[in-house]
Amino acid sequence: MFVDLFVRGLIMMIFVSGSVVISYYTTRLIAYLVPIARISEILLWSGTVIISAALLMGIAYYYVYHGFGIQTDIIRRRPSAGNKVVLTFDDGPSREYTPDILKVLAEKGVKATFFMVGSHVEKYPGIAKQIIEEGHEAGNHTYGHITVPNSPPPQLAAQIMRTNLVILQTTGAYPQYLRPPRGLYDMRMRRIAKLLGQELVLWSLSSQDWQSRASKASITRRVVERAKGGDIILFHDSGSLLSSEGANRKPTVEALGPIIDGLRARGLEIATTQEFMEYPAEQSRRLSV
Ligand SMILES: [Zn+2]
Repeated sequence: MFVDLFVRGLIMMIFVSGSVVISYYTTRLIAYLVPIARISEILLWSGTVIISAALLMGIAYYYVYHGFGIQTDIIRRRPSAGNKVVLTFDDGPSREYTPDILKVLAEKGVKATFFMVGSHVEKYPGIAKQIIEEGHEAGNHTYGHITVPNSPPPQLAAQIMRTNLVILQTTGAYPQYLRPPRGLYDMRMRRIAKLLGQELVLWSLSSQDWQSRASKASITRRVVERAKGGDIILFHDSGSLLSSEGANRKPTVEALGPIIDGLRARGLEIATTQEFMEYPAEQSRRLSV
């Protein structure tokens, strides 16, 4: 277990220092090409930090939204689903916001998928039950909203299996889907998902409702303007950037109705994750793990 974590830490350090070195020489090259007489040390290191951060963020973005190599076992979108899109909610259930979200979904006749945190299901079993009773689908979002690649193997397996059990015992439904917190997965999680008969479902469009400055208008505009057929759209009914509970999700609740109307006005149909699974994946070759 410690060897595993040591190797992971070492890989991360090599990765970060590699990008710092690349950024340092890129800054020097820019300084050489742009005719500034002499670049100061401060400018050189500021440039290095900015380029490193951009490089690492770009790699992280690619890893979450595309992945490296063939990843037909990870579902981010389903272009073959035509004009259909799926709505998903992470980090709940929450006592403050999930009931209001369920109300809007019922009023609009829409079914969604809730990627629930196991400990939150234990805290609010009645709301978790209501989600399933009202015809929505359950997904597993780990027991304590862990960072998957950093988790020791026994902890990772326990986090996933315990949440499956909690959701099953509380709601009577076995979660068919698994979504890693912050979209950070690894090969171990992909293998566990396969073993437990669960699909790894990420997303292709984030409402960015976790941002502190997100408003009803900004969330609505972003989702309605950007959504295209085949998208899996990410919202949150709990959670904040750093913790899995506690942020203000009022803008998400208020934006939901206008978003559903806006998507329908654009000719998009709101489907369930299960319906999406019936459409073929982009590549027919499955990754053997
Ligand atoms: Zn989350």
